[in-house]
Amino acid sequence: MSDLENFRREIRTWLEANCPAEMREPVKDEDDVCWGGRNFHFKNAAQKAWLEVCAAKGYTVPDWPKPYGGAGFSAAEAKVWREELARLGARPPLSSFGIWMLGPALLKFGTEEQKVHYLGQIARGEIRWCQGYSEPGSGSDLVSLQTFGEDKGDHWVVNGQKIWTSYADKADWIFCLVRTDKTNKYQGISFLLFDMASPGVSTKPILLISGNSPFCETFFDNVSVPKNQIVGELNRGWDVAKYLLGHEREMISATGGGDRAGSLGASVSRAGALQDPVLRADLAQFDVDALAFSAMSEKFMDEVKVGRGHPAQPNMMKYAGTELNKRRLELVMAAGGSAALEWDSEASNGGSHARNWLRTKANSIEGGTSEVMLGVISKRILDLPGA
Ligand SMILES: Cc1cc2nc3c(=O)[nH]c(=O)nc-3n(C[C@H](O)[C@H](O)[C@H](O)COP(=O)(O)OP(=O)(O)OC[C@H]3O[C@@H](n4cnc5c(N)ncnc54)[C@H](O)[C@@H]3O)c2cc1C
Repeated sequence: MSDLENFRREIRTWLEANCPAEMREPVKDEDDVCWGGRNFHFKNAAQKAWLEVCAAKGYTVPDWPKPYGGAGFSAAEAKVWREELARLGARPPLSSFGIWMLGPALLKFGTEEQKVHYLGQIARGEIRWCQGYSEPGSGSDLVSLQTFGEDKGDHWVVNGQKIWTSYADKADWIFCLVRTDKTNKYQGISFLLFDMASPGVSTKPILLISGNSPFCETFFDNVSVPKNQIVGELNRGWDVAKYLLGHEREMISATGGGDRAGSLGASVSRAGALQDPVLRADLAQFDVDALAFSAMSEKFMDEVKVGRGHPAQPNMMKYAGTELNKRRLELVMAAGGSAALEWDSEASNGGSHARNWLRTKANSIEGGTSEVMLGVISKRILDLPGA
């Protein structure tokens, strides 16, 4: 038996013994997602136990090195871990912007001290992070951002405003793009980390069409940020920001799901017989496309791990994955008929279909719009003239 097969058996045995039954159920609503952080309210004892037992083994971030809270798994071992979680239908023990976005950026650009400190907190689910990139007037054109950090010797004083900051009102800390040199557009931005409880930080939730308020306007009024809370070099935060965006786009592309989300045709037809031949054909086509997307994701991930990934691949993944997810929810709505539009009833689980459908409309905006992704693909992958 190969080492990897032995490893798979060990992981399978460990999961069977340690993953609580409640954590093997599909995620039904936001409460089922464990975000961690100082103010997180666990939905039940099983959610807390699952986080703790995984964090103790480094399984919340299995492919991070052990000194930074991970399990030190190789790429192949991490894949086995994901497959075994999926086999059991187990929920991820922890979901966080720290894991998906800040962590990879710290691994590449952080000092040793920052890695040990911040990555450990992320791995244990102690600190919840939000992303302070977009500003009113600086979304796609992010490099035009105006939030300013004035140099005061041993600290900066930050003033300005961010917008669309997901979960800013729930986050403990923010990773934030701040202009530290007004004379240089690209090389005048620094990547700062600071506590959302710092004096001068305030948030104002923004209401979405789904009826939820998952993001905020975020204001900085003379916020003091110590100099050791910069990641990377002064005025070179754009390099860190771009690297992090690649990981964000990969994360968002995962909404495409593919085979990990199971067959859409099967799940929709369980809810009622599907008589409409056009809808049946659309569902079959969707399932085929989702499987193709999943295979493409695996291939890209393998290429990245061995250093052969194209730097613009995350843009392609983000475009394909989010367009697929939007299609998925259009089909769910079409199959559900007028009942799928129910908004508040118990039978519709608080209007979960309609709210999820409306939420997908943002997929092709957040993390960079589909139009911007297509622009990058035209230029950097297809090398089209005039792009
Ligand atoms: C659900 C959600 C969560 C978000 N969370 C966060 C967060 O946590 N932190 C954060 O910092 N930001 C967040 N954002 C903001 C997101 O990154 C921006 O909305 C996005 O980058 C687009 O910027 P904008 O909204 O300013 O639109 P604009 O940049 O003003 O774009 C408006 C329109 O113009 C088009 N356009 C712009 N430039 C080009 C171009 N060069 N070529 C072709 N078309 C173009 C766009 O495609 C779009 O259709 C979030 C957004 C959403 C929807």
